[in-house]
Amino acid sequence: MTFALPTYADVAAAADRIHGAAHRTPVMTSRTADAATGASFFFKCENLQRMGAFKFRGGFNALAQFDAAQKKAGVITFSSGNHAQAVALAARILGIPATIIMPTDAPAAKVAATKGYGARVVTYDRYSEDREEIGRKLAEKDGLTLIPPYNHPHVIAGQGTAAKELIEEVGPIDMLFAPVGGGGLLSGCALAARELAPACAIYGVEPAAGNDAQRSLREGKIIHIDTPKTIADGAQTQHIGDLTYAIMKREAADILTAADDELVEAMRFFAARMKIVVEPTGCLGFAAARKLGDAIEGKRIGVILSGGNVDMERFCSLLSA
Ligand SMILES: *Cc1c(COP(=O)(O)O)cnc(C)c1O
Repeated sequence: MTFALPTYADVAAAADRIHGAAHRTPVMTSRTADAATGASFFFKCENLQRMGAFKFRGGFNALAQFDAAQKKAGVITFSSGNHAQAVALAARILGIPATIIMPTDAPAAKVAATKGYGARVVTYDRYSEDREEIGRKLAEKDGLTLIPPYNHPHVIAGQGTAAKELIEEVGPIDMLFAPVGGGGLLSGCALAARELAPACAIYGVEPAAGNDAQRSLREGKIIHIDTPKTIADGAQTQHIGDLTYAIMKREAADILTAADDELVEAMRFFAARMKIVVEPTGCLGFAAARKLGDAIEGKRIGVILSGGNVDMERFCSLLSA
């Protein structure tokens, strides 16, 4: 299926659709971060979103647009992470049956959380089976609608509501930083930022171990890589999508990277100074921004803290390593 690129109007419509279902998350500031950098940081706390990440925005926006037949048959998606829980929760709220395809070795807590929202979980072997193939077959057999994690206009538009809320709350910003996995969050937020703060420079941030989006924008085509080894499990994608690529290419100033030890440093900062739990992937934006020195001095900077789903054992072991 081919889709048209979403626009700011789609982000605005998504904001109406998710109103009352998604949280309008708080924006936090930090005198410590500002004093250390000379910038003014505004942190959009999607770690406090329902199910613990911004993905609820895109999932709910997509499912809320199903027609009666789609609602009855149900939704299917493949994800071992936050998108699975987002679709499962949105489906439960909207009364839509959900099937989630997860690898057999997905963390037990994530499988349990997804089942807890009432979804059917189908497992596959990630080393020998192709999840997209399994998804397509199941979708065809049962007439299910596939909602992928990032390369879908309704998902992109929904994710963009995070930046829309942020800029509406704090006013124009000079720079925006958001993590990049498949690029749904960054491209949606770019649509909002370009409309509401036209001069804003938009930066995506990837784990240093997997800079496929950075290479894609610099080389002018979508680059595929092996699953990168990084603690930023929400950004372990092997490639961005054609829709997210087109928007990022048009709107992003650049894609930057942050190494795992820099993510841990940021995670420690958020916990110690701001008293919030941010998962490693959610730390990408701040970890990259704080390295920029003179380039951020005096600037008003929006940062999307994309999620907070890290279990406590892992959180503690990352911080004590
Ligand atoms: C999915 C996810 C990302 C990356 O989002 P994309 O839309 O795939 O680029 C970043 N942070 C968290 C917490 C996520 O769950």
